[in-house]
This record gives sequence, structure tokens and C-alpha cells, in this order.
Amino acid sequence: MPVDVSAIREDFPILDRQVNGEPLTYLDNAATTQTPRQVYEVYEEFYEGYNANVHRGIHALSHEASVAYEEAHDRLAEFVGASGGREEMVFTKNTTEGINVVAYGLLDELGPDDEVVLTEMEHHASLVTWQQVAETAGADVRYIEVAEDGRLDLEHAKEVIGPETAVVSVAHVSNVLGTVNPVETLAELAHDAGAYILVDGAQSAPTRPVDVEAMDADFFAFSGHKMAGPTGVGGLYGKRDLLEELAPLCYGGEMISHVTFDEAAWNDLPWKFEAGTPPIAEGIALAAAADYLDDVGMDEVRAHENELAQYALERLDSRDDVETYGPPAGVERTGLVAFNVEGVHGHDLSSVLNDRGIAVRAGDHCTQPLHDVLDLPGSVRASFYVYNTKAEVDRLLDALDGGDAFDDARAQVEAYLSSDRYHDRVYEHHRDPKNAGGLADPTFSKHSEETTCGDEGEFHLDVSPDGTIERVAFESESCAVSRAVADLLAGHLEGQSLDAAADLDGWVVDALDGRFPDLRRDCVVGPEEVLREAAQEYLEREPEGIAGDD
Ligand code: PMP
Repeated sequence: MPVDVSAIREDFPILDRQVNGEPLTYLDNAATTQTPRQVYEVYEEFYEGYNANVHRGIHALSHEASVAYEEAHDRLAEFVGASGGREEMVFTKNTTEGINVVAYGLLDELGPDDEVVLTEMEHHASLVTWQQVAETAGADVRYIEVAEDGRLDLEHAKEVIGPETAVVSVAHVSNVLGTVNPVETLAELAHDAGAYILVDGAQSAPTRPVDVEAMDADFFAFSGHKMAGPTGVGGLYGKRDLLEELAPLCYGGEMISHVTFDEAAWNDLPWKFEAGTPPIAEGIALAAAADYLDDVGMDEVRAHENELAQYALERLDSRDDVETYGPPAGVERTGLVAFNVEGVHGHDLSSVLNDRGIAVRAGDHCTQPLHDVLDLPGSVRASFYVYNTKAEVDRLLDALDGGDAFDDARAQVEAYLSSDRYHDRVYEHHRDPKNAGGLADPTFSKHSEETTCGDEGEFHLDVSPDGTIERVAFESESCAVSRAVADLLAGHLEGQSLDAAADLDGWVVDALDGRFPDLRRDCVVGPEEVLREAAQEYLEREPEGIAGDD
């Protein structure tokens, strides 16, 4: 049975709100899904009825809270197909923490002869954590390549996973490509090599039926806030015997069974991994989210996700000015499509869409290395959930056209920047930058990598021996706002001292009379930060002053 979207939307009052005078079209679900009233009402029940700490008090409220919290573990274990109940389900803060628990828990088992195998499509949550743990252990990290069609290269996986492999850590579903990875096959390869497999389920637990036992995952991490649940809580499944062996990441109260002045013994599973007061209300609400999704039906959620993704892909692919990423149409994917519109920066496009009430995400989506493989600074991502409709996909596509008023998306960006939300000077510098480009022989340059959007840029400065800035130029592929501000700043600094550049602190905001939407604050203040750091670093390197250069 298809998902009854209109009935589902009734459960999410937030979807009725307006943004910029338009109905909200929420297409940022891969970042965080919305929460139905059945889930957030749990908070009211908890705080009105039985708010207390768990496991600590011999009183009614604590008992009720403890029972509900413990049963929530059983419910989540069931949700991901773990037959061992609460002993196999640790509550964490989110997927990131779950991955950290496993990676640091295995640290002592890793050494210089070991390899940790990831994929090129890993989220930073996994990639950065394993890099750190591998470095500490002296182990190597290897990556299974992503093939041209956005799927994992399984032949490469077979080459990479071998006798040296100690751990394979893979995303079940890519948060950028939408690819559904063959985790069963990867688990078999890992186990044949004597390695553990950790599955990052951040994008799969919310969007498809998960059976950790059928896939034979040793560990499986997921987040509540991506599956119609609350923020602040996630789950980590682990096979019972492995969790028994795994060293805890965090120490303190609750995770112990006995303590002396010299030593401590650990509590039973899963509490050994839940030091301190845990996310009690959040955990209970997460169980309500599991109930909610099971009522909708996870097979139905999966079919709905794929249907919307295929429809969006088809419509986006039919445009000459759009490039989409990930598996081609017809291949099952989760409900998301990452894309770029030719000649328009993702941040600018997101602003234009936001004007029409459409929430998407632009940037590197915490997968910078994957974007390097794709040779892209970033992408725009539209991601869907159970309450989204084809009409909302149409709204996105209509917004790309801009209706009758615009020729294309670029024209919309022009209109956006010249609207009265921005100071005229932003538009002027966007249209006609005076300082874009390089310098023949700059006194110094500063390269910057903007991590939220994946952009790179460079400022070049010519400074005279007395420390006067003679010329500033910039090279950047950033968004229109950031480039305009870079140009504005470059012009401002000409003739000023290097000390003035090192003291920059909010000049741009003042110069624009605060006239820019808060949403774009990073784009507005970013160039100033880069220039300030550049000047400070140079002055530190050359404490004798510029004259000392000659
Ligand atoms: N892995 C993947 C594949 C994700 O998409 C995300 C969230 N974008 C994470 C891990 C991290 O999730 P969280 O921020 O909830 O820890």
C-alpha cells in the first residue's frame, strides 16, 4: 500500500508553516527529519508525569522512568532486527558517537600491521574518527572506490579487504549519492578476512527496513533526529559478545557495577556504555518514533523514498543546466538527489529557493573527500521523507525556472542580490568585481578552504616596505555574496596598513549597515576572517616589519 501522505502530514504541524510568505517545502530530511506529534507528545507525558533519573531511586517516578527507558532499548533493538533486546542496543547521542564508541573501543586491538577499510563515500563522522584511531594505533586506512555510476566498486572492495583488514566501516546509504550499498556482501568479505564490520546506518535506519542480523553487521549506528525522532539520542547496535569485549569510551557513574579507591568493574550491557545520566526523555521518544515508522511500514517508506528520488532525478536530468550525482535513474536509491545548476553556486541557489519557502542543503554534506573524487567543491541536496510529495518536487523544479519572471536560475540570483535585502554595494561588487584575479608577485598570499561549502579561495597582497597595503586581489569560486564581499574588502584595504587588516573585526557588517540576511552571515564574514588571519600570520612571521624583507 502506498504511503498515505495526506494523513501523515496531519501528524507534522510544522509542515503547515510558511517561510517567506510561501508554504514550507522541507527537502532537507537527510540532515534532520521533522518530528510527528506522536513523538514530541512523549516529552509532555514524561515531564508532566514521571520525570526522574533512571536506575537510581527507589521511588515511583524513577521506577516508571527506568522501565520506560529500558523498554525503549528493547524497542529500538527490535526496530533494527536485533533479537538480543536491550543488551545489544546502546543509546548514544547520535551516529557520530556510536562510531566513536566502536572505533575507540577497538583501539587497543589495532596495531601497525592492521588496516581499516572505509569507502570513498563515507561521512566525516566515520572517516575522521577512523583516521584518528588508525593514526593512534599506527594502522593504515584504505578506501573502497566509488565507480562512475555512483555505486561501490565491488571488485575493488575484494582487492582492498584482505588479511590485514581489521575493521570495515561503511555507510549503508550514502548521504550524497543516495546509493544503497550491498552491506551483506561487504559483511561477508569482512568476516572472511577475520575483520569486524561497522555499518553507518544514519541514512538507512530512517528510510528502509533494517535487519542487522540478516546483514550480519557486527555494529550498526544510527541517529534519532533523522528518523522522525528527537535530537540528542541515537542507537548503537552491537553483537552481544562483541559489546561484552569492547572497552567503554566514556567513564563515570551508571556504567560501573563496583568501585573501590583502586579500581572499578563495569556494569551489564548496555549500561556499560551509557556513563552519567542518559538521554531519558529522548530515548523514550525515540521508541515512539520507531512505533510511528513501523505503523507507516518501513517497506512503504522505502518505496516512497525511491519513488520521489526517481521522480526528482528524472525531472532534474531532463534539464540541460543541471548535473545530478549518484546512481542513474532506475537504480534504487534513497530519497535524495544531489545536483548542481550550471553557473550558480549552491549557496546562492539555496537562498533563492529559501525565498520560495524551499529548504534544501548546499555544501559538501560532511563528505569533502567524496566531493574531491567527484571533482566538485559542493552540491545542492534535496532529500525527501514520508511526508513529501511529487508536488513538492515540482515546486523545487518550478523554482529553478523562476516562473515567468526569469530566464534561468542565474537571473534569479541576480534578482536576489539586487533586492533590498542586500546593500546595493554587494550587488555592485558582484556585478563588477575590481579585484578578482591574481597578482604577479604578491608579498604574501593566503589560501583558505571554506569547510561549510567546500569552496577554496586565495587572497594575494602587495605590501610596501612601510607596511602599507598597495593592492589586494582574490581568486575564488565561492558564492556571489562571498565574492562580492571579498571584492569590497580588497578595495577597502588598499592604502591601509597591514595592522588595520590584522585588526579587522566586523568592518563588512558595519559597511553593509547590517543589511544582509542572517542566513548568509558566514558568507559575509568569511572573507574578513581570512584576510585578518593572513595579516596576523604575516606580521607574526615578520616581526621586524615589512622593511626587513628588503
Ligand atoms: N553518517 C551519515 C551517512 C550521515 O548522513 C550523517 C548525518 N549527516 C552522519 C553519519 C552523522 O550523523 P549525526 O550528525 O547525527 O551524528
